Amino acid sequence: NLQQLHQLEPCLWTLPRATAEKRAEVLLYGTAPLLVSMDDKVLEQAANVAFLPGVVGASMTMPDAHWGYGFPIGGVAAFDAGQGGVISVGGVGFDISCGIRCLRSNLSLQDAAPRFNELADTLFHAIPAGVGEEGEIKVNLTQIDQILQEGANWAVKHGYGNTADLEYIEEHGRVADAVPDNVSELAKKRQRGEMGTLGSGNHYLEVQMVERIYDAAAALAFGLHEGQILISIHCGSRGLGHQIGTEYMLILAKAASRLGIRLPDRELACAPIKSPEGQQYIGAMNAAINCALANRQILTHLTRVACEKIFRDAEFETLFDVSHNTCKAETHEVDGKPRLLHVHRKGATRAFGPGHPALPERYRKVGQPVVIGGSMGTGSYILAGSSGNRAFASASHGAGRAMSRHQALARWKGRALVDELAQQGILIRTRSMRGVAEEAPGAYKDVDLVAEATEQAGLARRVAFLRPKVCVKG
Ligand code: 5GP
Ligand code: MN
Ligand code: MN
Repeated sequence: NLQQLHQLEPCLWTLPRATAEKRAEVLLYGTAPLLVSMDDKVLEQAANVAFLPGVVGASMTMPDAHWGYGFPIGGVAAFDAGQGGVISVGGVGFDISCGIRCLRSNLSLQDAAPRFNELADTLFHAIPAGVGEEGEIKVNLTQIDQILQEGANWAVKHGYGNTADLEYIEEHGRVADAVPDNVSELAKKRQRGEMGTLGSGNHYLEVQMVERIYDAAAALAFGLHEGQILISIHCGSRGLGHQIGTEYMLILAKAASRLGIRLPDRELACAPIKSPEGQQYIGAMNAAINCALANRQILTHLTRVACEKIFRDAEFETLFDVSHNTCKAETHEVDGKPRLLHVHRKGATRAFGPGHPALPERYRKVGQPVVIGGSMGTGSYILAGSSGNRAFASASHGAGRAMSRHQALARWKGRALVDELAQQGILIRTRSMRGVAEEAPGAYKDVDLVAEATEQAGLARRVAFLRPKVCVKG
């Protein structure tokens, strides 16, 4: 890879253009070792994105990037509606608004460790996880329409969590411009039993310990200290989001062909933001974002109820909830002028820097909390958005896969991994040993290197490193 790239900064590279190539710039964030180990497909996919109409600035990849559907996972690209800019299903991802809710507790490792076994069993019992696993909460189609409009606000209104949570969710728990009518009945029906469920494979609920603080001021603002117990919940919009993605792939592919948009890869199906199909998808996608925000809010409530059974005086406050599969209309300064852009972040986290008016008062001075999942065996990071608006204020969302699920399955056995992790004091609970093998810690890149590169690249600063203790795997 490196031979094809030109290094601009220690952590920033560009893919040079041939003279005849009429595409936007491609920028890759990361250190040389991370880029060397990145699959070639990432370069190809990032270059394909750069050919789409109306790209502003560059097609970018984060340090954790890997091969994805159409867009790379870890891909960021912004489009200007006024310049023919497009919206793409593959640029958002099928699990629309997949993201991480992070809860901080008043428990220390000392208090909690003796009861981790019980906690693991209780959480596993309380949190529906796995393929097609439904929860006890059933919602009818009228309620689904309300959820798609109101997001986490709906959940709080119905007794799942409290209003204090809402302040610490991206967009305060509800995005505007959701159009439930643009979501098919099939998508809504798929969701009837799936509110408050985790989903499969890569999704997890993890009890973690703050092992190291990097930035004392930001840790203070985020309410973090060494030895503290946190819980992170990683999941998205479940069947509803996936169904929307599947249906709009076809709708946007047809629109692209009707409008003569040349697609370098059919997985990049897209439509102009201003086209009827583009607008229709944006309305449906926003509805799915609200669904995911409501889902993580309900899971937060279920988590609290489960934890209170074990620790009577435990309190879990929402540290932050941030999505990593979205397209959002945001104003960013480009060449000294503010412009309204549609920023696709696919496997990338929004990372507003210090002073951003959208941030809750408590965090405004230090920047937005950014959550990077690593793996169930290694660890995760909390970072804070950097000033400077790099990559349209985006950062890494995980360690990123180093190998495919298929390769991981051939290499590891789920049962053996669970035993090995138990030896290290990490308790795994799952309905799918196959899922555990697919998600083996060794199948992911080194999260330490990714977090470090994210900081060096000026995307976000490290605040805390979290060690996994209990993981309910989807
Ligand atoms: P994705 O949304 O791309 O599926 O996953 C985001 C990131 O979560 C992955 O890149 C990976 O680093 C991380 N991850 C996957 N499984 C686990 C887990 O069980 N625990 C933690 N802490 N992180 C995980
Ligand atoms: Mn997901
Ligand atoms: Mn995700």
